[in-house]
Amino acid sequence: MSQYYLGAINKDTNEYENIFYVQKPNQYKCIGCDQDLILRKGQAKFQSFVHKNGFPCNYFKNATQVQILADAKMFLRSMITNNKVELFGTCKICMANCKINLPVYDNTKSLVIDHGLPEEQMDLVYLDADNKVICGFEVFENNPSKQAGYELHQIYIIQINYQITRNFATQKIELLTRKRMYCPNCVHHA
Ligand SMILES: [Zn+2]
Ligand SMILES: [Zn+2]
Repeated sequence: MSQYYLGAINKDTNEYENIFYVQKPNQYKCIGCDQDLILRKGQAKFQSFVHKNGFPCNYFKNATQVQILADAKMFLRSMITNNKVELFGTCKICMANCKINLPVYDNTKSLVIDHGLPEEQMDLVYLDADNKVICGFEVFENNPSKQAGYELHQIYIIQINYQITRNFATQKIELLTRKRMYCPNCVHHA
């Protein structure tokens, strides 16, 4: 059994949903093989997908690194479009986590996976109503490697679909980026 929290495609909306958020009445298909899935309902952490008619696909048992990375980008995109992401950076002085404001998502905006030309592709880019870049996201496995002429949030993949930190009050997923900044208490000493 994979220890990663992977998702599937909701057949009605054609949108990605992570196993953390799937709902029993919905119909899902597998990202790996396109076949129909059955949701085995349990407590959020323990529910799982199985393939209908025992279709031999290893997506949920043994996804490749490429599949896990693609899933992480879709998960991040779906969470931002549902306004369920809280981003944090680290204070340069006191090392406290400080909130990074993300604009509220609405349907004038868009989030594009693998944006740009192949040699300068960004994992996820947040665009405003005029298709101007608000910010970008890099989901990295070992070391972050991307650069951009806009605000770039670099997030370790483990936080997205392995060790998910969810705020119980807001139901938002909390992600710590590599950004170093000054928190409100330290900004005066900077
Ligand atoms: Zn499959
Ligand atoms: Zn500080």
